[in-house]
Amino acid sequence: MTRMPTLFVSHGGPNVVVDPSDARDFLMRLANDVPKPQAIVLVSAHFEAAGPAVVHDPAPEMIYDFSGFAPELYQMLYPAPGHPELAGRVMGLLRSGGYRPERVDKRGYDHGAWNPLILAFPQADIPVVQVSVDPDRDAKWHHGVGRALAPLRDDGVLILGSGHITHNLREIIGRMGGAPGTPDFPSRVSAFTDWFHTTLTGGNPQKVLDWRNDAPFVSDNHPTDEHLMPIFAALGAAGDDTHAERLHASTQFDGAFAWDAYRFGTPTSD
Ligand code: ZN
Repeated sequence: MTRMPTLFVSHGGPNVVVDPSDARDFLMRLANDVPKPQAIVLVSAHFEAAGPAVVHDPAPEMIYDFSGFAPELYQMLYPAPGHPELAGRVMGLLRSGGYRPERVDKRGYDHGAWNPLILAFPQADIPVVQVSVDPDRDAKWHHGVGRALAPLRDDGVLILGSGHITHNLREIIGRMGGAPGTPDFPSRVSAFTDWFHTTLTGGNPQKVLDWRNDAPFVSDNHPTDEHLMPIFAALGAAGDDTHAERLHASTQFDGAFAWDAYRFGTPTSD
């Protein structure tokens, strides 16, 4: 059985699935960067709960958790099944890791889930188990969630974190309303994304867990933390395999959305 790498992707607004962009092109090629998964455990920044919640829904429906977008985006379907049995295993692993997971019997796919899934795995034939983030918990806590799930990699399960390497809606909305924007905003974004890239690929990627103290321009890039938390889960799920590779980098809105994506862990097969 193949040991799967883990992934972190930035997911954008729902329009990424139809509007041409470098990020869309990248996500459409994403399946080439990993062996074909038997199943996907997906940690989306748009699934928030107190403590890790695990979806057991055998047939998740769609959640159109956005407003003001093109009508066609409210027709999008992603009919991949859930996987209650795997969800039960996820619960057990989380308990073994010291967490108190909550079972969620019914929950659809939010756009943090279906954006990358529609583009990367359009056949929708790979079952998906969704795991929440907790916006009141820090990087280390989410890293531990991932680390608890690391054994799944040996069973061909892809652990996929979906968030954003930078995410500042306040900056986007302010500029749309005619505000001048934060001075030197693009350079504040690149300083932040460069810090993550350098730290993640520098041989000791766990140093990113100190991002709140050590990364530059934290509040410019993440006024709130939740969109960054999935990267820590993906990193934790790679366990002691510290290989990290940035698969993609691009920006939108001068970097208020940056689209960096990473692969953690070395794919191997035997
Ligand atoms: Zn989002």
